Amino acid sequence: MREQMLLLKELQEAESLIGNLEKDHQDVLRTDETRQLFADMHALQKNIDRMEKAREELSMQYKREEILLMSRQTQRQQVENSLYGGTVHNNKEMMQIQGRIQQIQDQIEKQENSMMGIMENQETLEQKITEVAERYTQIQQGLKLKERENTAHILELSKQIKALTVVKSNLRERIRLDLLAMYDELIRKNGTAVSWLQGDICVKCRVVVPGYVVRGVREAKAFVYCETCGCLLISHTPLEKKTGKTKRTKNINL
Ligand SMILES: [Zn+2]
Repeated sequence: MREQMLLLKELQEAESLIGNLEKDHQDVLRTDETRQLFADMHALQKNIDRMEKAREELSMQYKREEILLMSRQTQRQQVENSLYGGTVHNNKEMMQIQGRIQQIQDQIEKQENSMMGIMENQETLEQKITEVAERYTQIQQGLKLKERENTAHILELSKQIKALTVVKSNLRERIRLDLLAMYDELIRKNGTAVSWLQGDICVKCRVVVPGYVVRGVREAKAFVYCETCGCLLISHTPLEKKTGKTKRTKNINL
C-alpha cells in the first residue's frame, strides 16, 4: 500500500515537472522578443532603401549641375576671347562685354554653391546610412543570438520532457489501475492528488490534521485523505514493521 502511494507521489512529481517544462516550451515558442527584432530590422531596411534612393537622386542632381557649370565656363571663355580678340571697338562695347562676363561669373558662383550644398547633403546622408546600417547589423546579430539560444533551450526542454515521459509511463505501469483512476480523478479535480504528512501537518494545505488521521496515515493500511484539501496523505515516518526493504523516494515537498 505504502509503496503504491509513494509511486503515486513520484508520478505526481513527474507529471508536475512535465507540465512546467511544457509551459516553458510554449513560452519560448511564443516569445515576442524575436518578432519585435524582426519588425525593427524590417523598418531599418526600409529606411536604408529610402536613403539610398535619395543618395542616387543627389548624385544625379550633382551631375546635372556639373554639366551646367561646364557649359557656363565654356561660355565665359568664349566671351573672354571676344574681349581680347581685337573685335572690341570702343569703351561701351568693352563695358558691355565685361558686364556679360560678370553675369556669367555670378551664374558660375551660384552653380558652384549649389554643388557644394549637394555635396554637404550627400555627406550627411552617407553618415546617416552608415549609422542605420550599423544598427541593422547589431539587431541582426542580436536576433541570431536569440534564435540560437531559443533553439538550444527548446532542444533541452524537449529532451527533458521526453525523459520524464518515459519515467511517467514506467511509474504508471507499476501502479494499480484502480489507484491510477483515483489519482487521475483527484488531479483533475484538485490539481494535486498526493501530499506528504509532516508531523501532523498536511504539506499541501499546511493545515494540522486530527490525531486519528495521523495514526491512520502512519499505519498506511487504508487510504487516508486530508479533510481540508482532499489529498491522499503519505507519512515520512510509517508505522510499518521493518521489512528491510529500502525505498528510493524523492523528498520533494510540494
Ligand atoms: Zn491538506
